Amino acid sequence: MTDWSPRTKAIVAGRPTGAGEPLNTPIVPASTYVAGGEFAYSREDGTPTWNALEEAIGALEGGHAVSFASGIGAVAAVLDLFPAGTEVAVPTFSYAGTRGLLDHAAKMGRLQVRRVDPADTEGWARAAAETDLLWIESPTNPTLELIDVAPLTGKRAKVVVDNTFASPLGRQPLSHGADIVVHSATKLIGGHSDLLLGLTITADEGLAGELRAARTRNGATPGALEAWLALRGLRTLPVRLAEQSRTAALLAERLAAHPAVGKVGYPGEGTMIAFEMPDAASADRVCASVRLIVHATSLGGVESLLERRAAWSGDAHVPAGLIRFSVGLEDPEDLWRDLEQALR
Ligand SMILES: *Cc1c(COP(=O)(O)O)cnc(C)c1O
Repeated sequence: MTDWSPRTKAIVAGRPTGAGEPLNTPIVPASTYVAGGEFAYSREDGTPTWNALEEAIGALEGGHAVSFASGIGAVAAVLDLFPAGTEVAVPTFSYAGTRGLLDHAAKMGRLQVRRVDPADTEGWARAAAETDLLWIESPTNPTLELIDVAPLTGKRAKVVVDNTFASPLGRQPLSHGADIVVHSATKLIGGHSDLLLGLTITADEGLAGELRAARTRNGATPGALEAWLALRGLRTLPVRLAEQSRTAALLAERLAAHPAVGKVGYPGEGTMIAFEMPDAASADRVCASVRLIVHATSLGGVESLLERRAAWSGDAHVPAGLIRFSVGLEDPEDLWRDLEQALR
């Protein structure tokens, strides 16, 4: 089973195999269980539905997965493991929710935060040697810059990678030495903009136990329906990712050639594009003019969404005209026609 390709693992991992069992683990909405078995109370022991999802994601990332109520629930559980005084290095541009959590912890005197430019290779190497924790996104949200993880692992700092934008199929940071991987399954894994769920994955069994204990302690437990939907979403991630990435590459190329568009951020893979309009007003006009693409926040679903990111609370520091574009599964030519008329 471990030597199946990722594409196959996405289909078969976490599936019951016993005779007479349902092919897919059902939604088990239980808080408690008859005493004496594998499960006693869901917040502590999980549920069959969470476990199926965790087994599948763990198989893809190469570690032990723990599921949470949201991506931020997973982020908070990881930060919960670090003592007061911990210094965290984080990309200057990175997910606003995570920066919000870090800033709050800093304000409360729990953590110190060091901001490092994603492109500053030496700054990251210094942070790996001097700080306690590197919080890495690659590509970064929302500017889509890449940070090379492998050279930063095995140093003083623990390395956590938020792998939401790459997905478990795009990249497996544990294989490059990262200590913990975090996902917002709300995005590409779920893939249909209809759930909130988060995950942590680590190859270290003890660390996985600590993360599970943090979930039990803080109670950021996923819903049974959400876990089921996330696993159902995962089954089609390989084809969604391939198709949406192909469309994103095409649209990034055409946007870069369009006279009304400035800088285009596309890391050459994945489903996200960041493109810059000259100012906030022209970017707002694009957001208001799309008809097929939806003006909405979030990403990773089958529906194409865009937004002017600096309008979002917590992201006021990103370039004013930057539009974050999550490319969906619509016909690429329809998407381009819509973008063209909106840019006009
Ligand atoms: C959305 C997102 C999160 C937070 O996930 P939620 O499920 O919304 O709590 C964390 N990291 C990244 C990169 C995200 O895009």
